[in-house]
Amino acid sequence: MNKKVVVIGCGNVGMSYAYALLNQKNSVHELVLIDIDNDKAQGEAMDLNHCLAFSPSVMHIKAGTYSDCKDATVVVIAAGSNQKVGETRMDLINKNAGIFKSIVESVVASGFNGIFLVATNPLDVMTYITYKYSKFNPNKVIGSGTSLDTARLRFIIGEKLQISPKNVHAYVMGEHGDSEFVAWSTATVGLNNINSFLTEEEMQDICLEVKNAAYKIIEKKQATYYGIGMCLARITSAILGDENSIITVSCYDDDNKLFIGKPAILNKNGIVKSVYVSLTPSEEQKMQESIDIIKKTIEGLEN
Ligand code: NAD
Repeated sequence: MNKKVVVIGCGNVGMSYAYALLNQKNSVHELVLIDIDNDKAQGEAMDLNHCLAFSPSVMHIKAGTYSDCKDATVVVIAAGSNQKVGETRMDLINKNAGIFKSIVESVVASGFNGIFLVATNPLDVMTYITYKYSKFNPNKVIGSGTSLDTARLRFIIGEKLQISPKNVHAYVMGEHGDSEFVAWSTATVGLNNINSFLTEEEMQDICLEVKNAAYKIIEKKQATYYGIGMCLARITSAILGDENSIITVSCYDDDNKLFIGKPAILNKNGIVKSVYVSLTPSEEQKMQESIDIIKKTIEGLEN
């Protein structure tokens, strides 16, 4: 399999992703960086190349152009504005929707026939926009979705219980944003239901901590990027490794005609399918709230 990745947007997120790829074994063979600021892409490529002597991977890295997308396996879009203190992800919609048309159309014009992976916020709406402009099969358009929120949740629970986050099986679903929710009814630690470890009140506090994590980090260091960089690298390895792994990504919801965060099976073809989750009526209601928010934002853009 040709393991070629093109990253569009060489800012905090794009470069944290690239650095995470460099630290993976059996990572990509070729990594191409594109940014509206070509000097930045060139400088980042030079800097990353200087990691290769000590990286566990063999990789060709360069700054490139959209024609490099032609034979790419995955194109990752991390271009656009990030949240500033006091901004929500949805506040970024006008700035970021504006730049996506030319980005996605330029990728498609190269002859690209691989998988789009979107990181730019507001994530679920930007993933939908990528799908609309690319006219790709929705299985080949993936948003990072609630993968980062799920990673935050697993870390927080793991810390609290002094158990590895790898043994925490709990998912954040819905919008990657303020209406996201934890599907507590399905959560387990090891083999036991989460109810044997946490009280209702503790679960509510943890949910709030996950939701507010980005705001807190942005308040302290202006942006969040290592977490999403690792999530994007994990999603990429699930695709390139043809893993059939389950990750909470933003995937197409055919009933509602939009993209939203759900656990889904990922392999070399992109999204195989989303996994059915038996939600309680109150969780279903939270999912519906997320759907309504994403739908309203898309309708606002289309009108
Ligand atoms: P940043 O400002 O550091 O980087 C953005 C990069 O995009 C810059 O290098 C800029 O030159 C480039 N860019 C802008 N317009 C472009 C265009 N038309 N073509 C090519 N490149 C262009 O921002 P960041 O901190 O890296 O954040 C990027 C995006 O990722 C934001 O929307 C942010 O909110 C989002 N993000 C998502 C998650 C997630 O979980 N999905 C987490 C953190 C951040």
